[in-house]
Order: sequence, then C-alpha cells, then structure tokens
Amino acid sequence: MKVGFIGLGTMGGAMALNVRKGGHDLTVFDLRRDAAKPHLEAGAAWGEGPRAVAANSDVVFTSLPGPKEAEAVGEELLESMPRGTAWFDLSTNSPTVVRRIHAKLKEKGIAMLDAPVSGGPHGAKSGKLALLIGGDRAVFDKYKPVLDAIGDQVIYVGDIGAGSVAKLVHNCAGYMIQTALAEVFTLGVKAGIDPLELWAAVRQCSLGRIRTFDRLGRQFLQGSFEPPDFALQLAHKDVTLATELGRELNVPMRVASLTHAEMTEALGRGWGQRDSRVPMLLQEERAGVEIKVPAEKIQAVLKRDG
Ligand code: NAD
Repeated sequence: MKVGFIGLGTMGGAMALNVRKGGHDLTVFDLRRDAAKPHLEAGAAWGEGPRAVAANSDVVFTSLPGPKEAEAVGEELLESMPRGTAWFDLSTNSPTVVRRIHAKLKEKGIAMLDAPVSGGPHGAKSGKLALLIGGDRAVFDKYKPVLDAIGDQVIYVGDIGAGSVAKLVHNCAGYMIQTALAEVFTLGVKAGIDPLELWAAVRQCSLGRIRTFDRLGRQFLQGSFEPPDFALQLAHKDVTLATELGRELNVPMRVASLTHAEMTEALGRGWGQRDSRVPMLLQEERAGVEIKVPAEKIQAVLKRDG
C-alpha cells in the first residue's frame, strides 16, 4: 500500500519505520526535516508538506502534538487527498475536533478515523502498541494490514471519536491512579517502611496481581454489588485507618480523603453490607448514567482477549 506519514517525533518516527518494515511504500513529512533521516535511509520518499504526501498516498497517518496541529494539517489534507482515500490520526486528540474534521472530509469523499495509540515510545518501536480506532468500520477493515504493522492490539472501538474518548478515559485513569499511589507510598515510607520492600510487598497483593481495568468487570460493569466479595463496612474501616495514620504522620491525603467521604456517603445510604465497590453508584447518579452489562457479555470479552 502507498502510505503517507506526517509527524515523525518520538511516537510517529518509530511507527513510520514499522510501516516501512511492514513492506509498504512510504512518503514522510515533518516540520523538522532531519527527523526523516532514518526513514529516507530505509527507502521512504520525502513529501514537501501534507499536500505532497497526500498526492502520493492511498492512506495517510498523522502523529502530531494535538488538536491545533491536527486541524492545521487537516485543512491541507482536505484540499489535497483524492476521493476514496483515508486518513488515520494517531495523535491523542479531542473527540470534538476529530468529529469536526471527519465531517468536513466526509463531504469530499475522504474517510477520517481517529486512532490514538497507547504503549509509549518503547511500544512504538517494538510494535507492542494498542491502537484505539473510531470511524467507518469498512475503512478500518480495508487498512487493517497497515494498522497491524504499527501495533499488536488494533481495536475498533466505535464511530468517529470513540477511539479518542477511550484514550482519554485510559490516560486520565492512569494519572488519577498515579496521584493516589503517590499519596499512599509517601504514607508508607513516612510510616517507616523501606520503599523497595513496600513496593515488593504490595505488588503481590490483590491489586498488584490484577490488570487495572479487569477489576471493573466483576461488580461495577454488571451493576451488581451483592453478595459482597468484601463488604463496604470493612473497606470503610480500612480507609479510615489509613487516613488516620496520615493525620498522625502529617501526610496530606487528598485523594484518600475524597475516597473516604465517598465511602462514608455510601454507608449513609445503608450500603454497608453491599460490596465495597458500591460507592461507584454515587458517581453514576451524579453523572446521570446507569451501567449494567450482562455477565455473559463480560465473560465473552475476557475469553476473546485473554
Ligand atoms: P513529539 O513532539 O515527539 O512529535 C510530534 C512531531 O510532530 C514532531 O516531530 C513535530 O516536529 C511534528 N509536527 C508538529 N507540527 C507539525 C506539522 N504541522 N506538520 C508536520 N509535523 C509536525 O510527540 P510524541 O511524543 O511523538 O507524541 C505524538 C502524539 O502521540 C501526541 O498526540 C501524544 O499525545 C501522543 N502519544 C504520545 C505518547 C508518548 O509516550 N510520547 C504515547 C501515546 C500517545
């Protein structure tokens, strides 16, 4: 396939090289021409700007810093991509912006899909990378071989924007968890535990042994909190003890205090004997959404994806 690649930074540079390794014709562009050196050495062609790349490609990939750059490049692609071609934006972008760009290109018969990636620079190099795709399913299927050259987890999430929404949910979760972990680790170390020993211990506990999002399948996704695996009443006691320790040691525990307040509110609802994940229902109420996925559908995903 004739592939165009715009944006050869930390992620894009490595992903474009893997496209070339996958045996595709490659035309590249970056504002920094020297970023294309390894690609040109690997046999890629240089396109002087998005228009030149578009003229030479069936499918164009972009890996740009964000919405502003994607919109600017999009304006040029809009004017230069032939009807029937496709653009996958691998940047982490705003769902609203990608939907706007998609609508404009659609009028001209050009497909645009959002395809943010997850796996970091190491994954971009090794190909151990997840691609979260939103847009036309038929276009996704058509270009799947090129997507497979970039990542080992190429996931069709839904309509245009769905990939970006999934990516933002994932990254925001990561940084919220990071904030929480900073808090409890400073508590543990200030309470006298060696950080290496603490890390070695907790990574073998229940949370340490499970993939982060797998936890959601058992109670939250099913909207099922009885019978409890671990009762809220008991979990509330644990978080009370942890925040008390924080107060004793003068360790600020903002995330834990918020969590404790959430659990206390759930106790006030009379949910003490329900499973300790039940405070998640309070957030469903505030957000005005109800989440209830049949257990067999959850099992089917676990069986399919491992
Ligand atoms: P980067 O800054 O290293 O790369 C961006 C590249 O785009 C640069 O080479 C820059 O010169 C080029 N560029 C900027 N504007 C351009 C334009 N108008 N035309 C052509 N080229 C242009 O950034 P990165 O870390 O490779 O990230 C790229 C995207 O991937 C971002 O949206 C980022 O959020 C996302 N992402 C990054 C990581 C990571 O770990 N670095 C992981 C997952 C997703």
